[in-house]
This record gives sequence, C-alpha cells and structure tokens, in this order.
Amino acid sequence: MAKKAKKKPAKKKSKAKAAKRPAAKPAKAASSKVVVSVPPVYVPVAGSGEQFQVRRIYCIGRNYAAHAREMGSDPDREPPFFFLKPTDAIQVVMPGKVANHLYPSLTKNYQYEVELVAALKSGGKNIKAADALKHIYGYAVGLDMTRRDLQIGMREQKKPWDIGKSADHGAPIGPLHKVAQTGHFSKGAISLSVNGEVKQTSDLTHMIWSVAEQIEKLSEAFELKAGDLIYSGTPENVGPVQKGDLLVCKIKGLPDLSLNIV
Ligand code: MN
Repeated sequence: MAKKAKKKPAKKKSKAKAAKRPAAKPAKAASSKVVVSVPPVYVPVAGSGEQFQVRRIYCIGRNYAAHAREMGSDPDREPPFFFLKPTDAIQVVMPGKVANHLYPSLTKNYQYEVELVAALKSGGKNIKAADALKHIYGYAVGLDMTRRDLQIGMREQKKPWDIGKSADHGAPIGPLHKVAQTGHFSKGAISLSVNGEVKQTSDLTHMIWSVAEQIEKLSEAFELKAGDLIYSGTPENVGPVQKGDLLVCKIKGLPDLSLNIV
C-alpha cells in the first residue's frame, strides 16, 4: 500500500523524448522505365487557370441527423465513420455547363447525395478541430453518387461498401474555391433538385460533425496530406435517378453543379 506513489512512472517524459526518425529515403529510381503510366487527377481552381491535384477522396457517412435516420441509424449515438472513393472517380463539372454523367453498371437504384467538399493544402496526424481549418485550401460542390441497392446489399451481408460507393465517375465535383476568397463554409443552404423539383434541402449547420471535427477524427486514423478531399456528408431525402434526369446541386456561395444522367 505504501508503494502506491511508485506505481506508474510518468509517461509524459518519454513521449517528449521520442525522437523523430529520419524519413526513409525513397528507393532510387535509377534509370528504371515506367511501363504503365497513370494520369494524375486534378480539380480546377475557380477563376485561376490553376489545378489542384487529388490524392485521396474521403467521405463521411450519415452526417446529417435526418439522413442518418432515413438510413436506419441513430444519429445521437453513432460516432462518425468514413469510407474512401477511388481518386479517379472524380468527374469535374464546370459551372454553366451540364455534364453528362453515365448511369453505371449493375445497379437499379443509383442515387444522388449532394455534399460540401473540403480540399486540403496540408495535413498531419492527430489534428485538433481547433487547428483544422488552416489545412483547408478551398471548397467545392460535390456529389457522392451511390449504387444504393449494392451498398445496402453489401451492408446487410456485412461486406465492404465499395461496389456501392466507388462506381466509375461516382464523385462529381465543381471547381474549388479558395478559402482566401470565400471564407469557410460553416453555414448556408445546400440543396439538390431533379428536373426542377427540389429533392434535398438543408443547411450546412445541420452537419452532426463539422468539417473541422471531421478532420480531427480522420487524422486520428490516417495521416492527412495535401491533395486530400473530404466529402462532408449529405442531408436527408436522398433518392434515385433515371437516365434523362437533370440534377442541379446548390450550396450558397458556390456556383451550381449540373448533371444530365445518360
Ligand atoms: Mn455521402
């Protein structure tokens, strides 16, 4: 009993001492020839002629309470969760144009999810929400297109969602708008209409986890880096599209994103 004070050595010291390891040197490419070359993926930066190269596409699930409920979960209890889309799922859609979006294979229930997208210019591990916004380069309107029947089928079998969430071209996005010009998007109307009829309508304030909180949570699981995109979740009333439908996505302060399903 008397030895109680000795019980646990202070951990703080060793943490402070933990020396930074030098980064592993990249293997020398020497003169090895690249036999398969994959084009980088870019999102244009509005009004600049500049391009933002995409490293990874992170997406948060069920981040608006009413959408969480419509997907059958309890928004009050559930911690945030994330999935990824392949980088080349990006489909750039320029303002003032209606881009053709291919209805993908295998599904009979292809659905829209309008989302605010945050783009990172820097990153790190264990970023605190209070420090998170300084890593954001800009914002865009995006769509997390989803083969809902396949996603739910896999979910029910406790298998990965990828086939539902990672269809080719399944991540339409408008040009990025620099934070320096627009500020951060912590509030403002977000909506989606199909053939002129409003289907989804909400406000960014209804996110359960703010973009800064999403960065905090994500950076506990992954080292975030410049080039990462975060699709920040969709409000309620997701629904199916048919070939021939015209989708118009709106977020206050950003230009509309318009798609024609073909
Ligand atoms: Mn989504």
